[in-house]
Amino acid sequence: MSENKNDLLVVKNLKKYFKTKSGLLHAVDDVSFTIGRGRTLGVVGESGCGKSTLGRTMMGIYKPTKGKLIYGGKEVDLTDKKERFAFAKKAQIIFQDPYASLDPRMTVGSIIAEGMEIHGMYDEKKRQERVAELLDIVGLNREHANRFPHEFSGGQRQRIGIARALAIEPEFIVCDEPISALDVSIQAQVINLLHELQEKMGLTYLFIAHDLNIVKYISDRIAVMYLGSVVELASSDELYANTLHPYSKALLSAVPIPDPEKEAQKHRQIIDGDVPSPINKPKGCAFSSRCPLACDKCRESAPQLKEAAPGHYVACHLV
Ligand code: SF4
Repeated sequence: MSENKNDLLVVKNLKKYFKTKSGLLHAVDDVSFTIGRGRTLGVVGESGCGKSTLGRTMMGIYKPTKGKLIYGGKEVDLTDKKERFAFAKKAQIIFQDPYASLDPRMTVGSIIAEGMEIHGMYDEKKRQERVAELLDIVGLNREHANRFPHEFSGGQRQRIGIARALAIEPEFIVCDEPISALDVSIQAQVINLLHELQEKMGLTYLFIAHDLNIVKYISDRIAVMYLGSVVELASSDELYANTLHPYSKALLSAVPIPDPEKEAQKHRQIIDGDVPSPINKPKGCAFSSRCPLACDKCRESAPQLKEAAPGHYVACHLV
């Protein structure tokens, strides 16, 4: 995969395996990509495809089994505590569940200020000023600093999560399904907020989601994951206009079209069967047990991710 000088982040051959009683679970299996400074890479796939594990491994929450993360031109050793701490000053994560990710015993002000304290940023007075500023930025009231998380709605709690992530002035944020737990009516507000913050602050995002509509709106490029691996990677426009991988085609066919007439005419491709276990991955192409086009070659050898068109990468023997 080609790299260029505007890349803020380069992930190379990242693997995260978990030891289980039944064998080795290949949650993230040899994933490589780049993200340009100020850009968004969307990551999509069914639940259990490894997208959240990918984000958490990149943040050092899980220790990587193998692979490299290069940030701003320098390799970050995520197994080293000191390097992980220094990296956490530049990179933050917004979690899916705003209910579970905020400590119910802490006030909103303390939750937002915690990262600044840990990183020794500012004195107490300045931290309180920053908390007030951050509450303004995410569309909450300054008085909310003295309240507790249970006093807020889901959308407001996600705004608190965003303010907490922004507090230490990161450059890069992993947005791990940040809207999946929210009502549809609130989802667009949170997405718009993330988009505005990116424009204002030049933030770089890895945006994890299973909703392809949302991913298209916010992402410059999209990686489609299946069973721990990236099977297709392209710019958002290219991926939607020229979908090449059979799995991506099936995912896209499930996205509703706003025009009822077109929606009624659309051929919806159902993927048969369940996602195989990441402990016993099929031999050959991981998608072969569900792919309508699978042939003998697919069941024998695993296709590599290769450039099928400029900047458009696909892992399929038939492309
Ligand atoms: Fe389907 Fe074969 Fe392509 Fe895998 S390699 S996606 S099984 S056609």
